[in-house]
Amino acid sequence: MLEGMGILITGGASGIGRAAAELFVDYGARVAVADIDVASAQIAVDSIVARGGSAIALAVDTSSAQQVDLMVEQAAEWLGRIDAAFNNVGIAHPLHPIDELPLSVWQRTMDITATGTLLSMQAELRHMTKAGGGAIVNTASNSGTHGTPMLGGYGASKAAVINLTKTVAVEYASRGIRANAICPGVIDTPPIAALAAAGTDFSQIINAPMGRIGTAREVAELAAWLCSGRSSYVTGQAISIDGGQTATP
Ligand code: NAD
Repeated sequence: MLEGMGILITGGASGIGRAAAELFVDYGARVAVADIDVASAQIAVDSIVARGGSAIALAVDTSSAQQVDLMVEQAAEWLGRIDAAFNNVGIAHPLHPIDELPLSVWQRTMDITATGTLLSMQAELRHMTKAGGGAIVNTASNSGTHGTPMLGGYGASKAAVINLTKTVAVEYASRGIRANAICPGVIDTPPIAALAAAGTDFSQIINAPMGRIGTAREVAELAAWLCSGRSSYVTGQAISIDGGQTATP
Protein backbone atom coordinates (compact mmCIF):
# COMPACT_ATOMS: atom_id res chain seq x y z
CA MET A 1 0.00 0.00 0.00
CA LEU A 2 2.92 2.38 0.71
CA GLU A 3 5.44 1.07 -1.83
CA GLY A 4 8.26 3.53 -2.49
CA MET A 5 6.94 6.18 -0.11
CA GLY A 6 9.07 8.14 2.36
CA ILE A 7 7.20 8.73 5.62
CA LEU A 8 8.11 10.77 8.70
CA ILE A 9 6.62 9.56 11.99
CA THR A 10 6.83 11.62 15.19
CA GLY A 11 6.52 9.91 18.54
CA GLY A 12 7.64 6.81 16.66
CA ALA A 13 9.58 5.18 19.48
CA SER A 14 6.61 3.75 21.38
CA GLY A 15 2.97 2.70 21.24
CA ILE A 16 0.97 3.79 18.19
CA GLY A 17 3.96 5.50 16.54
CA ARG A 18 6.17 2.45 16.81
CA ALA A 19 3.44 0.16 15.51
CA ALA A 20 3.01 2.58 12.59
CA ALA A 21 6.73 2.59 11.81
CA GLU A 22 6.75 -1.21 11.65
CA LEU A 23 3.53 -1.47 9.64
CA PHE A 24 4.46 1.27 7.15
CA VAL A 25 7.71 -0.59 6.41
CA ASP A 26 5.76 -3.85 5.98
CA TYR A 27 3.64 -1.97 3.41
CA GLY A 28 6.74 -0.88 1.48
CA ALA A 29 7.65 2.54 2.91
CA ARG A 30 10.97 3.90 4.16
CA VAL A 31 10.48 5.65 7.49
CA ALA A 32 12.11 8.36 9.59
CA VAL A 33 11.29 7.63 13.23
CA ALA A 34 11.50 10.84 15.27
CA ASP A 35 11.16 10.97 19.04
CA ILE A 36 12.37 12.86 22.10
CA ASP A 37 13.49 9.42 23.38
CA VAL A 38 16.00 8.83 20.61
CA ALA A 39 17.44 5.71 22.30
CA SER A 40 14.05 3.99 22.05
CA ALA A 41 13.61 5.31 18.49
CA GLN A 42 16.95 3.69 17.63
CA ILE A 43 15.78 0.38 19.15
CA ALA A 44 12.66 0.53 16.96
CA VAL A 45 14.78 1.32 13.91
CA ASP A 46 17.27 -1.47 14.65
CA SER A 47 14.41 -3.96 14.82
CA ILE A 48 13.01 -2.72 11.48
CA VAL A 49 16.43 -2.86 9.82
CA ALA A 50 17.03 -6.37 11.23
CA ARG A 51 13.87 -7.45 9.38
CA GLY A 52 15.20 -5.96 6.12
CA GLY A 53 13.38 -2.61 6.30
CA SER A 54 14.73 0.86 5.75
CA ALA A 55 14.50 3.32 8.64
CA ILE A 56 16.38 6.09 10.43
CA ALA A 57 16.02 7.43 13.99
CA LEU A 58 15.89 11.19 14.56
CA ALA A 59 16.01 13.10 17.86
CA VAL A 60 13.40 15.81 18.27
CA ASP A 61 11.39 17.69 20.85
CA THR A 62 8.39 18.59 18.71
CA SER A 63 7.55 21.58 20.94
CA SER A 64 10.73 23.30 19.66
CA ALA A 65 10.39 25.04 16.28
CA GLN A 66 14.12 24.87 15.71
CA GLN A 67 14.29 21.12 16.40
CA VAL A 68 11.22 20.42 14.27
CA ASP A 69 12.70 22.32 11.31
CA LEU A 70 15.91 20.29 11.67
CA MET A 71 13.91 17.04 11.91
CA VAL A 72 12.06 17.77 8.67
CA GLU A 73 15.30 18.79 6.95
CA GLN A 74 17.05 15.58 8.06
CA ALA A 75 14.06 13.39 7.18
CA ALA A 76 13.75 14.99 3.73
CA GLU A 77 17.45 14.52 3.07
CA TRP A 78 17.45 10.86 4.10
CA LEU A 79 14.10 9.91 2.56
CA GLY A 80 14.69 11.96 -0.60
CA ARG A 81 11.19 13.35 -0.22
CA ILE A 82 8.59 13.27 2.56
CA ASP A 83 5.52 11.81 0.84
CA ALA A 84 3.57 11.55 4.08
CA ALA A 85 3.94 12.62 7.69
CA PHE A 86 2.32 10.99 10.71
CA ASN A 87 2.34 13.60 13.49
CA ASN A 88 1.64 11.37 16.43
CA VAL A 89 3.21 13.06 19.47
CA GLY A 90 0.81 13.83 22.27
CA ILE A 91 0.84 13.70 26.05
CA ALA A 92 -1.98 13.26 28.52
CA HIS A 93 -1.78 14.93 31.93
CA PRO A 94 -2.59 13.87 35.49
CA LEU A 95 -6.32 13.92 36.25
CA HIS A 96 -7.65 17.32 37.38
CA PRO A 97 -11.12 18.86 37.43
CA ILE A 98 -11.10 22.06 35.35
CA ASP A 99 -11.23 24.41 38.34
CA GLU A 100 -8.09 22.78 39.72
CA LEU A 101 -6.16 22.33 36.46
CA PRO A 102 -2.77 23.98 37.07
CA LEU A 103 -1.85 26.50 34.37
CA SER A 104 1.61 24.91 34.13
CA VAL A 105 -0.04 21.55 33.26
CA TRP A 106 -2.34 23.22 30.71
CA GLN A 107 0.63 25.04 29.14
CA ARG A 108 2.86 21.95 28.86
CA THR A 109 0.02 19.91 27.35
CA MET A 110 -0.75 22.64 24.81
CA ASP A 111 2.97 23.15 24.02
CA ILE A 112 3.62 19.49 23.22
CA THR A 113 0.31 18.27 21.85
CA ALA A 114 -1.12 21.32 20.06
CA THR A 115 1.86 23.58 19.33
CA GLY A 116 4.04 20.58 18.54
CA THR A 117 1.57 19.42 15.90
CA LEU A 118 1.31 22.95 14.48
CA LEU A 119 5.11 23.27 14.24
CA SER A 120 5.40 19.84 12.63
CA MET A 121 2.76 20.69 10.03
CA GLN A 122 4.32 24.08 9.29
CA ALA A 123 7.69 22.54 8.44
CA GLU A 124 6.10 19.64 6.54
CA LEU A 125 3.81 21.95 4.55
CA ARG A 126 6.79 24.04 3.42
CA HIS A 127 8.49 20.86 2.22
CA MET A 128 5.37 19.32 0.63
CA THR A 129 4.41 22.54 -1.12
CA LYS A 130 7.82 22.62 -2.81
CA ALA A 131 7.66 18.86 -3.53
CA GLY A 132 4.23 19.15 -5.17
CA GLY A 133 2.03 17.42 -2.61
CA GLY A 134 1.79 14.96 0.24
CA ALA A 135 -0.37 13.52 2.98
CA ILE A 136 -0.46 14.56 6.64
CA VAL A 137 -2.03 12.42 9.35
CA ASN A 138 -2.29 13.79 12.89
CA THR A 139 -3.09 11.76 15.98
CA ALA A 140 -5.89 13.49 17.85
CA SER A 141 -8.29 11.69 20.21
CA ASN A 142 -11.96 11.19 20.99
CA SER A 143 -11.14 13.57 23.86
CA GLY A 144 -10.81 16.27 21.18
CA THR A 145 -14.42 15.83 20.08
CA HIS A 146 -16.08 14.94 23.40
CA GLY A 147 -15.76 16.14 26.96
CA THR A 148 -13.47 13.85 28.97
CA PRO A 149 -13.77 14.35 32.72
CA MET A 150 -10.50 15.29 34.42
CA LEU A 151 -8.62 15.50 31.12
CA GLY A 152 -9.76 18.97 30.05
CA GLY A 153 -6.31 20.23 29.05
CA TYR A 154 -5.65 17.13 26.99
CA GLY A 155 -9.07 17.35 25.34
CA ALA A 156 -8.57 21.02 24.45
CA SER A 157 -5.15 20.30 22.95
CA LYS A 158 -6.63 17.51 20.80
CA ALA A 159 -9.52 19.76 19.72
CA ALA A 160 -6.85 22.18 18.51
CA VAL A 161 -5.18 19.37 16.57
CA ILE A 162 -8.49 18.50 14.88
CA ASN A 163 -9.26 22.09 13.92
CA LEU A 164 -5.74 22.70 12.61
CA THR A 165 -6.05 19.51 10.55
CA LYS A 166 -9.28 20.71 8.93
CA THR A 167 -7.82 24.16 8.27
CA VAL A 168 -4.74 22.69 6.61
CA ALA A 169 -6.95 20.41 4.50
CA VAL A 170 -8.91 23.40 3.23
CA GLU A 171 -5.94 25.72 2.76
CA TYR A 172 -3.65 23.24 1.02
CA ALA A 173 -5.97 21.02 -1.05
CA SER A 174 -5.15 23.02 -4.17
CA ARG A 175 -1.46 22.25 -3.59
CA GLY A 176 -2.01 18.48 -3.59
CA ILE A 177 -1.77 18.11 0.18
CA ARG A 178 -4.32 16.12 2.19
CA ALA A 179 -4.63 16.32 5.99
CA ASN A 180 -6.63 14.05 8.26
CA ALA A 181 -6.81 13.32 11.97
CA ILE A 182 -7.20 10.02 13.77
CA CYS A 183 -9.25 9.96 16.98
CA PRO A 184 -8.44 6.83 18.96
CA GLY A 185 -10.49 5.61 21.89
CA VAL A 186 -8.54 3.68 24.51
CA ILE A 187 -5.62 1.88 22.89
CA ASP A 188 -3.28 -0.63 24.47
CA THR A 189 0.02 1.29 24.61
CA PRO A 190 2.59 1.83 27.42
CA PRO A 191 0.82 4.85 29.00
CA ILE A 192 -2.46 2.91 29.16
CA ALA A 193 -0.69 -0.22 30.44
CA ALA A 194 0.88 1.92 33.17
CA LEU A 195 -2.53 3.27 34.20
CA ALA A 196 -3.95 -0.26 34.23
CA ALA A 197 -1.01 -1.44 36.35
CA ALA A 198 -1.71 1.44 38.74
CA GLY A 199 -5.24 0.13 39.20
CA THR A 200 -7.30 2.13 36.68
CA ASP A 201 -10.40 0.10 35.84
CA PHE A 202 -11.00 0.72 32.15
CA SER A 203 -14.23 -1.24 32.17
CA GLN A 204 -15.81 1.79 33.84
CA ILE A 205 -14.29 4.21 31.35
CA ILE A 206 -14.86 2.31 28.15
CA ASN A 207 -18.30 1.64 26.87
CA ALA A 208 -17.06 0.51 23.48
CA PRO A 209 -19.68 -1.85 22.05
CA MET A 210 -16.85 -4.16 21.04
CA GLY A 211 -16.11 -4.60 24.75
CA ARG A 212 -12.34 -4.28 24.52
CA ILE A 213 -9.63 -1.68 24.09
CA GLY A 214 -7.90 -1.31 20.72
CA THR A 215 -4.41 -2.26 19.65
CA ALA A 216 -1.71 0.08 18.38
CA ARG A 217 -1.59 -2.00 15.22
CA GLU A 218 -5.28 -1.31 14.51
CA VAL A 219 -4.63 2.44 14.73
CA ALA A 220 -1.52 2.06 12.55
CA GLU A 221 -3.66 0.41 9.86
CA LEU A 222 -5.88 3.50 9.67
CA ALA A 223 -2.82 5.78 9.60
CA ALA A 224 -1.31 3.71 6.77
CA TRP A 225 -4.48 4.00 4.70
CA LEU A 226 -4.69 7.76 5.27
CA CYS A 227 -1.01 8.17 4.29
CA SER A 228 -1.53 6.10 1.15
CA GLY A 229 -3.00 7.04 -2.21
CA ARG A 230 -5.90 4.68 -1.46
CA SER A 231 -7.50 7.50 0.55
CA SER A 232 -6.93 10.02 -2.26
CA TYR A 233 -10.37 11.69 -1.91
CA VAL A 234 -10.31 11.85 1.90
CA THR A 235 -9.19 15.10 3.50
CA GLY A 236 -10.14 17.29 6.43
CA GLN A 237 -11.62 14.40 8.39
CA ALA A 238 -11.32 13.41 12.04
CA ILE A 239 -11.88 9.67 12.05
CA SER A 240 -12.64 7.82 15.28
CA ILE A 241 -11.19 4.40 15.86
CA ASP A 242 -12.72 3.24 19.11
CA GLY A 243 -14.69 -0.01 18.84
CA GLY A 244 -17.86 2.02 18.42
CA GLN A 245 -17.48 3.99 21.65
CA THR A 246 -18.48 7.36 20.16
CA ALA A 247 -21.43 5.78 18.35
CA THR A 248 -23.19 5.02 21.62
CA PRO A 249 -25.81 7.44 22.96
P1 NAD B 1 3.34 6.53 23.88
O1 NAD B 1 3.74 7.24 25.13
O2 NAD B 1 3.52 5.06 23.81
O3 NAD B 1 4.09 7.20 22.64
C1 NAD B 1 4.27 8.57 22.54
C2 NAD B 1 5.68 8.85 22.06
O4 NAD B 1 5.82 10.29 21.92
C3 NAD B 1 6.77 8.40 23.05
O5 NAD B 1 7.73 7.63 22.35
C4 NAD B 1 7.37 9.70 23.57
O6 NAD B 1 8.76 9.61 23.87
C5 NAD B 1 7.12 10.64 22.41
N1 NAD B 1 7.11 12.05 22.79
C6 NAD B 1 6.50 12.61 23.89
N2 NAD B 1 6.74 13.93 23.91
C7 NAD B 1 7.51 14.21 22.83
C8 NAD B 1 8.07 15.40 22.31
N3 NAD B 1 7.91 16.59 22.92
N4 NAD B 1 8.79 15.35 21.16
C9 NAD B 1 8.97 14.15 20.53
N5 NAD B 1 8.48 12.99 20.98
C10 NAD B 1 7.75 13.03 22.12
O7 NAD B 1 1.81 6.95 23.65
P2 NAD B 1 0.65 6.39 22.70
O8 NAD B 1 -0.42 5.89 23.58
O9 NAD B 1 1.21 5.53 21.61
O10 NAD B 1 0.13 7.77 22.10
C11 NAD B 1 0.43 8.20 20.78
C12 NAD B 1 -0.57 9.27 20.43
O11 NAD B 1 -1.90 8.73 20.47
C13 NAD B 1 -0.59 10.50 21.34
O12 NAD B 1 -0.81 11.66 20.58
C14 NAD B 1 -1.79 10.23 22.24
O13 NAD B 1 -2.32 11.42 22.78
C15 NAD B 1 -2.72 9.58 21.24
N6 NAD B 1 -3.81 8.80 21.82
C16 NAD B 1 -3.54 7.69 22.53
C17 NAD B 1 -4.59 6.96 23.07
C18 NAD B 1 -4.36 5.69 23.86
O14 NAD B 1 -5.33 5.19 24.45
N7 NAD B 1 -3.16 5.14 23.88
C19 NAD B 1 -5.92 7.40 22.89
C20 NAD B 1 -6.15 8.56 22.16
C21 NAD B 1 -5.08 9.25 21.62
